[in-house]
Amino acid sequence: MRTLLFGIASFLTSGLLSVSWANETCENDLAKLDADFEGARISACFVEGDSFEIRIDPEDQPINPSPWYSFRVTPKQTGDLKVSIRYSYGKHRYRPKRSDDGRTWALIDAIYVRERQKGKRVVMTLEMGTEPFIVSAQELISGQAYESWEKGMVAKHPYLERVKIGNSVEGRPIYALKSTPSEPDSNREYVVLFGRQHPPELSGAFAMLAFVSTVFADTELATDFRNRFGIIAVSLMNPDGVANGNWRHNVNGKDLNRDWGPFTQPETQAAKKLLDDIADDPNSQLRLMLDFHSTKKNLFYTQTKKEKTKPEKFTARWLESADERFDYYDFSREERHQRSLPTSKNYSFGRFGAPSMTYEVGDETNRAAISRSAVVFAEEMMRILLSYDEDDLGKDKASRN
Ligand SMILES: [Zn+2]
Repeated sequence: MRTLLFGIASFLTSGLLSVSWANETCENDLAKLDADFEGARISACFVEGDSFEIRIDPEDQPINPSPWYSFRVTPKQTGDLKVSIRYSYGKHRYRPKRSDDGRTWALIDAIYVRERQKGKRVVMTLEMGTEPFIVSAQELISGQAYESWEKGMVAKHPYLERVKIGNSVEGRPIYALKSTPSEPDSNREYVVLFGRQHPPELSGAFAMLAFVSTVFADTELATDFRNRFGIIAVSLMNPDGVANGNWRHNVNGKDLNRDWGPFTQPETQAAKKLLDDIADDPNSQLRLMLDFHSTKKNLFYTQTKKEKTKPEKFTARWLESADERFDYYDFSREERHQRSLPTSKNYSFGRFGAPSMTYEVGDETNRAAISRSAVVFAEEMMRILLSYDEDDLGKDKASRN
């Protein structure tokens, strides 16, 4: 067996839609390669005798090096197939994963993957049976998969709404899952969650799915929490980038997490409007903003300890109490005082003074550990926010606009 099982829950099915690379045939006697599904990326494909070479380009340049690739192999014979990837920009970053059913994914064993030319090129040997399979930089969670997951959540939990908050550049709807506090006449306190601004950042997406499922569960803690706090979760901020297999940007070539301030893109404008609604309501307060991403290792970008947040000291209390509950997930707190960088974190803290963080998960962090720890982070988030007295926090509408 050349693969190591990962264990991704089956609700993360990848919807296979036709989008990118409507190419000339790339096939030989052994197999056919294609990129005819949502999230696929092959920029060019070359047949070299029995093997293939794929070129991977970013959507535009310059760009943060998150070289995304995703392609399907349809075998014509059983046996081994050699496929190499050549990056025109950046170098190899994501360990290849394979799915034989479009739902479950396995890491391709490292002994079948060889980096060449300092990571500019990667050669992999793929074991072929009789059925097509997908090889991808990270697992696929398509727009369709988010849609069915969100609809399933709403069907299960009557207190949840699925609200359209805007459209992407290519006209894909952007949705939020939302719960409203059950005591609507009192102070309305909100937690807002964002994800998938950067398409390849699947490890962060897994954390967000587990986190959101925990805060929208029927546990006593989550029920108490939702009685007091509203929760708004936008799991797929960049649906075009995900559909097109982009490395980082939306289809206008913009890094969405550098647009919180200028707000030049419809995706970030939709998010801003959501925050405007909180700011414009004299009874509403933002208590926490989390934005889920991926990077080399697990970490949280936070405010500095000197920057006063409201609620005060939430970040330290939260991260410490979560850390006490597990030994399988290492992470660090990275304090960042960079108010000029127009990220969701800096915007949210600058406008509301609420703790605002980038929840970063390592690219290759064990998937089960991501989900387990995200459940703990969600539980501790709820427990600690509930520990602050609503009256002490009060209503602070100064410097909102
Ligand atoms: Zn990111």
